[in-house]
Amino acid sequence: MRSSVVAIVGRPNVGKSTIFNRLVGERISIVEDVPGVTRDRIYAEAEWLNTTFRLIDTGGIEIGDEPLLIQMREQAEVAIREADVIIFLANGREGITAADEEVAKILYKSNKPVVLAVNKVDNPDMREQIYEFYALGFGEPHPISGTHGLGLGDLLDSVVNLFPERENEPVDEDVIHFSLIGRPNVGKSSLVNAILNEERVIVSDIAGTTRDAIDTNFSKDDRDFVIIDTAGMRKRGKIYETTEKYSILRALKAIERSDVVLTLIDAETGIIEQDKKIAGYAHEAGKAVVIVVNKWDTIEQHDQAIKEFEDNVRAHFPFLDYAPIVYLSAKTKKRIHTLLPNVVQASENHTKRVETNVLNDVIMDALAINPTPTKHGKRLKVLYATQVAVKPPTFVVFVNEPELMHFSYERFLENQIREAFGFEGTPIKIYARKRS
Ligand code: GDP
Ligand code: GDP
Repeated sequence: MRSSVVAIVGRPNVGKSTIFNRLVGERISIVEDVPGVTRDRIYAEAEWLNTTFRLIDTGGIEIGDEPLLIQMREQAEVAIREADVIIFLANGREGITAADEEVAKILYKSNKPVVLAVNKVDNPDMREQIYEFYALGFGEPHPISGTHGLGLGDLLDSVVNLFPERENEPVDEDVIHFSLIGRPNVGKSSLVNAILNEERVIVSDIAGTTRDAIDTNFSKDDRDFVIIDTAGMRKRGKIYETTEKYSILRALKAIERSDVVLTLIDAETGIIEQDKKIAGYAHEAGKAVVIVVNKWDTIEQHDQAIKEFEDNVRAHFPFLDYAPIVYLSAKTKKRIHTLLPNVVQASENHTKRVETNVLNDVIMDALAINPTPTKHGKRLKVLYATQVAVKPPTFVVFVNEPELMHFSYERFLENQIREAFGFEGTPIKIYARKRS
């Protein structure tokens, strides 16, 4: 099920970033601990009372050297398009300004629910000052303080109450949804065309055009697929749509709807920092991943070419060590037939369930090969393991003390599980839990 999206808008300096970081809490810094993975600050997951939602800080979407007013208008439009609920942030220390009124005007015209928050109300004596904000026309202003973390609970209660009821959207489990991500010019559009024009591919219909992507249904060899194409959607005239951060936002939404994400790399130019960042998004989302090295026609073909490129990819993307690598050319169509079988395999592994007794045999063998770690004289005891979820496959290992499960031992167990069951193309998650 898709989670709700909340956007924070307001003129500069009202405290959007401060509130964003507060609401997202520690999650961001946890993510940044993963080597090679950095999350873009404008978009993050937050949680309130068992409801998770996605938060956008529109202030993080910088739009070139445009005048302030145009920037604010564009940012408000991002919020209106992307969000289910908008937090309109004002500054209690400055009162209503002309710029607030500008933002308010744009928000009126949208049909999105808006919650008005007045920031920098750092102590209760200042509460008197919030009444003037009724004049903005969005009902009761919520006094908050980003620096002191005050009033955020009440604000979130109001926000969560406005989330749309979501029907459980029916998803056909047999259809593999996949998307292509990669920096501009790696060949995403070319590859979409090459896939859809492949032999024996039958395009049935355009399943839908969302604001961000075109979904096309097709089948090949009795398998059904939906390709989620964001590349064809760019440059429709809005300023913000051509900004890099907005294209990241769009890619993240495509990833969210995918079973398998194809991460494209340009063989001609090689791997750059931006590629790692984009690949990191796919990994973090827990999706199956296939690495596609495109423009293989530009590489001088010799016996070691693939081996050399593979070493290079593995060195740059250690966090994607489970992803198969496909070398092809969208332009000449060379090796293009190798792509879909890898997509199918990654998807099958992403949804694979293993039997509990076989899993436990593997774990017991693993314990015999490599004794569990100790800490302060206490040894980790592994009692029992079970698979609790798919997409991605997720395992819970019941132990005496979860703290004794060292990262490297978890990694060892993961490798043993992979060796036994072959989870190529999918991340797997392992949680140590205390047996109660
Ligand atoms: P943005 O431009 O809207 O993203 O605003 P920032 O989050 O960058 O905040 C602008 C300034 O306001 C920074 O100096 C913050 O430290 C300060 N600020 C943010 N929230 C509060 C608050 O609740 N109280 C006070 N006194 N200052 C705050
Ligand atoms: P996108 O921005 O990722 O959608 O990239 P495009 O599909 O628009 O391709 C960018 C450029 O790379 C275009 O000039 C394509 O013709 C070229 N290109 C795409 N795939 C290949 C390929 O396999 N080999 C070569 N030599 N060029 C390619």
